[in-house]
Formats: sequence, C-alpha cells, structure tokens
Amino acid sequence: MKYISTRGQSPALSFSEILLGGLAPDGGLYLPESYPQFSHADLSAMRSMSYTDLAFAILNRFIDDIPTADLKAIIDKTYRADVYAYTRSGQNAAEITPTVKLADNLYLLSLSNGPTLAFKDMAMQLLGNLFEYVLTKTGKTTNILGATSGDTGSAAEYAMRGKKGIRVFMLSPNKKMSRFQTAQMFSLQDENIYNIAVNGVFDDCQDMVKAVSNDAEFKAQYKIGAVNSINWGRIVAQVVYYFKGYLAVTDNNSQTVSFAVPSGNFGNVCAGHIARMMGLPIDKLVVATNENDVLDEFFKTGIYSPRGSAKTYHTSSPSMDISKASNFERFVFDLVGRDGGKVRELWASVDSGGAFDLKPWLAKLADYGFISGRSSHANRMQTIRDAHANYSVTIDTHTADGLKVALECRDANVPMIVLETALPAKFEDAIIEALGHAPERPATLVGIENLAQKHTVMQVSVAEIKQYIMDKAS
Ligand SMILES: *Cc1c(COP(=O)(O)O)cnc(C)c1O
Repeated sequence: MKYISTRGQSPALSFSEILLGGLAPDGGLYLPESYPQFSHADLSAMRSMSYTDLAFAILNRFIDDIPTADLKAIIDKTYRADVYAYTRSGQNAAEITPTVKLADNLYLLSLSNGPTLAFKDMAMQLLGNLFEYVLTKTGKTTNILGATSGDTGSAAEYAMRGKKGIRVFMLSPNKKMSRFQTAQMFSLQDENIYNIAVNGVFDDCQDMVKAVSNDAEFKAQYKIGAVNSINWGRIVAQVVYYFKGYLAVTDNNSQTVSFAVPSGNFGNVCAGHIARMMGLPIDKLVVATNENDVLDEFFKTGIYSPRGSAKTYHTSSPSMDISKASNFERFVFDLVGRDGGKVRELWASVDSGGAFDLKPWLAKLADYGFISGRSSHANRMQTIRDAHANYSVTIDTHTADGLKVALECRDANVPMIVLETALPAKFEDAIIEALGHAPERPATLVGIENLAQKHTVMQVSVAEIKQYIMDKAS
C-alpha cells in the first residue's frame, strides 16, 4: 500500500515513510492510493472479534511495511482494558469503545475512556507506540513540537511519556486552560515531557511552532516532528471504532447505521468517510459543529469559506473552535474524483485567505452520505439537561453538540450512533452550568489539581523556544 498526496505532485511513499512527517512536500495531505475493501463475509468474520483483532484486521490492510507479528504486538500493547479504563459504571473496559443505548435506535459510542478522557487517546496512544517502534528500528530520535489549547497536547503527552527516542515540547497559553487540563499536563514528571506556558494566546503558540518548523535548517538539525491532526496514522486508527460501533448495534450486514460526529478539524469524521468507502454499511455521516460552522456551511451550500483566527469564536465546546478544518482536503480530494490539480486550484484560493464554491458538486455530496448541523451554547446546555433527564447519562459539551444534531436529522428506522468525544469530567464548569452540579470524576483523578506541577513560563519568542529546545536536546 502506497500513500499519495491530495495535491498530486509528491512521490508515493510507504506507511512508515509518512508516519513521522506532516504535510506532503507539495503541501497536500497523504491518503492511500486506494481504499481496501471489506466484503459482507469479512464483516461477518469480524462480528466475533475483540477490539485488538478488529484493529489488526483493518490496520494490516493499510500497513505493509511493518512485519505482521510486530504490528500485532504494537496493537495489543495499545488497546488494553487498563489503558482505556475510565468506563461508565456497568461498561466493560475490555470492549475499549463500549456503546451505551440511550433509546431505541439511539446510541452513544464511548471513545473517551482513555488516559486523558477524550477520543484523541484512541489514535494518539497507537501513534506513540508506532513512533517508538519506527524510531528504534531506524536508530533515530525526534523532538515533537506542538501547540495546544487542551485536548491534543494532553493526549500527545500521555501517549509519548517515557517513550525511547522521543521528547515532547508542548506550548500552551499561560493560565488559559482549565484547571483540570492544566493539572493533567503539568503534573507529568516524565523527563521527556516539556510543558511550556506561553504568555500569550493559543494563536501565539501556534505561530511559534510554525516559525520553528519553517526554519528548515533548525528543523533538520533538531529533528523537529509533529503529531498534529493531519497525521495519517491518527486518521487510520480512528477507522477501527466505526467498524466496532457498527458491529455492536447490528446483527446482520444488511443493516445500515448512521454516525453523528462532533467536528472541528474533520479528522474524526474523515475516518468515518474512509470506513464507508471501505464498504462499511453507513447510511449518514452527520457532521456536527458549534458556532464555528465552516463545515456546516459547506455541507449546506457547497461553499467552503474558512474564517481566519480573528473570527473564531471561543465556545463551550473549545476543542471544536477552529477557523479552518485541516483534514477537509482529504474528503474534497475524493469528492472531485481524486484530481490533484483540482485540489491545488481550490486550495490556492484557501491558502491565500479566500474561499471556494463546489455548488455543482452538491448532489454528489449525498452519495457520500454527508449531512450536517450546528449547535449554540444554549442548545448544548439544553441537550445536556435533556440527556440527563431522559437517558440518565451526563454528556460533555462536545458530545452534546453531536447529540443535538443527531436528534434533528435522524431516521427513526436507522440506528444513530453519537460519538462521545470527551467525558464530562473534563469540562466541569460547563456541566455545573447545565445541571447545577459537577459531573462524576474517575476516582483516580480526584485531587489531580493538588499534585506537584512542572512547567516553564516563556514569552512569545521564537528565539527563546529555539534556545530551550537546543538546551534540552543536546
Ligand atoms: C478534537 C476534538 C473534537 C474535534 O475532532 P476533529 O477530529 O478535529 O473533527 C471534538 N471533540 C473533542 C472533545 C475533541 O477533543
């Protein structure tokens, strides 16, 4: 299996060759040259599989340059009940992504039982083990540099802590994360994890990362790597739980299901699109956004008009506060018939601050199953209250966005699976606002705010972060 760029001008590479990199040299994103197909017989065989066997059956079709025994060992080490242990009461952690039945044909898929209580652990934990494997094999090291407003940074740190050959330098805006998120990250005492609190906002952190990555000489000398949301390894890991969710709520392969996906950078729902292209019987893929609704606008009008960071709203579902959806290009590549020239033309406009109009393709969007909706803060608060009253579950604000849109557009005859992208304990203040009381917190995380914290405070300065990396990496 080779991987090609959505902009059509980069050489085709193998999985291990693209694993540690970011964008393709032509500025595009990597996708497999074709999607492996799963027949109904394959699906039937999967019905009795454990999560690790399912993950192996799928990932093995995408990864052909890691020996199968090694790949199997990496997967077994990643998807363990003791890693995805923050289950709701009554759930079996060995399921890794258990489902909760809310009502007839309405389910929650628990993707947030991992160490940082958000779905990003599903892919990031695999990435940590894959990185360590590939680096060890090639005798290389990497210094991962990233910026976070909360979820991505903590998932990356918990995936990379203690890993050989890897250091993580994570920038976050000083005093702008929630107390819980700050405690999660800063309480890590691992030697290879460096938390840097920048006296600025998230965009300042992002700009510092970009400036360092754009210095080709520094980047090469200090082996600067990234784990951002365009990484193909993250997308492919997420394909697995769409299969798991489908198999959990159906008993034969003639049934279809729909998925509702709280979306920001389009990474999660992109994995759903790929699962559908691989033959998984998915009816609708529901893209749910918050007030930052670039994607909802696209699926309704065919116009993709990124807002720019100045027009990004800070909402009560902060992990979906994006101005442009970095993985969206992958779907558009498929939509326009995998025409790299067309994608180059569309993104020439986006990259220079403009928009594009795919209205003529609107009818085709339906063939891919996509529909969309959005929520406001008031909608999410109401949905959290309704879910608590009607289904006796407490859901977080991101999941509430998914449930709100799912209820609006579901077909009562088709099972609708809402992806739970974070546990409510991660966003306590919003839950207190909605319900008047704090959500239950896993016992092992009670008092996490009182643990000793380790971090460095820095000004918004490219020179300062470079010097810091030089000191720590030598
Ligand atoms: C990252 C994140 C999202 C958005 O996922 P994308 O893959 O960027 O679309 C939604 N909810 C939570 C809790 C997240 O952390």
